[in-house]
Amino acid sequence: MSSEFVPPNAFRSPRFAQLSTFMRLPYRADPAGLDAGIIGIPFDGGVSFRSGARFGPKEVRNNSLLIRPYNPVLRTSPFERLRIADCGDVDTNPMDILDTYARVEAAVGRILAAGAVPACVGGDHSLTLPIMRAVAKVRGRPLALVHFDSHQDMWEEYFGNRYFHGTPFRRAQEEGLYDGHATVQFGIRGPVYSEDDFAFGAQHGVTVVRAEAIHRDGVDAALRHLDRVRGRGVYVSFDIDSVDPAFAPGTGTPEVGGLTSAQALALVRGLAGLDIVGFDIVEVSPPYDQSGITAMLAANVLFELLSVLSLKR
Ligand code: MN
Ligand code: MN
Repeated sequence: MSSEFVPPNAFRSPRFAQLSTFMRLPYRADPAGLDAGIIGIPFDGGVSFRSGARFGPKEVRNNSLLIRPYNPVLRTSPFERLRIADCGDVDTNPMDILDTYARVEAAVGRILAAGAVPACVGGDHSLTLPIMRAVAKVRGRPLALVHFDSHQDMWEEYFGNRYFHGTPFRRAQEEGLYDGHATVQFGIRGPVYSEDDFAFGAQHGVTVVRAEAIHRDGVDAALRHLDRVRGRGVYVSFDIDSVDPAFAPGTGTPEVGGLTSAQALALVRGLAGLDIVGFDIVEVSPPYDQSGITAMLAANVLFELLSVLSLKR
């Protein structure tokens, strides 16, 4: 494997030197020849409460500099097994969510066309819809889905708008992008408007593993639900608010009682063996972060997901 796609030697170039890229990987605007392309999507025009996720990609890059290349839990060196690069950011349109969707779908489509897995760092959760459109189009069939979140993001609309960060999984279901019967949501919690809020997911066969169940029964029991996505092309969407605000305060719609960072990492590592065809990490809002801890967690989730990806080849 080419050493062109490993981070520079930290004993020759200190981790805090040079321009920040995700995990100090090389920057390649052109995804040709990559196994996975990491792209930032700086957009928060789809949020309903606290904004700021447009600054997520920059801070996740900055807080990824300390990540070393070997994963001792999964026993893999993802940057030696896979050719991974930072493909830069999508030029979003901060004034227009639908134009942004078109730009995101095109950018993710370019990574997929190169034969690479898109690894997307947002940005708010509204962006998952155009990413999944691009991935589902290439796969030619509905995706299986693993979704980490405190919210189902299956609401109908907000102030008359059908596209915002509370609706991506309703729209994606309506568009036939994923199979609800091959979908698992981890970490759902918090007050909702009524029990009816859960009806759409239930109608479509979605498995909800609530945060309370993970705290009560543990991570291994939660991971058993993944049986329904095995053998399928799986899309993974990781909303950082699945993690408790004690560990991830820098986010738009925090909910208490969430996953610990350790539970989140263990759940992500439990995805090893799945055929992951694309993923996103969203909802990091640096203006609400303290000491960069939320962005640092997002960077580590990114590393774990790339580690999982490296084990399928
Ligand atoms: Mn979400
Ligand atoms: Mn959420």
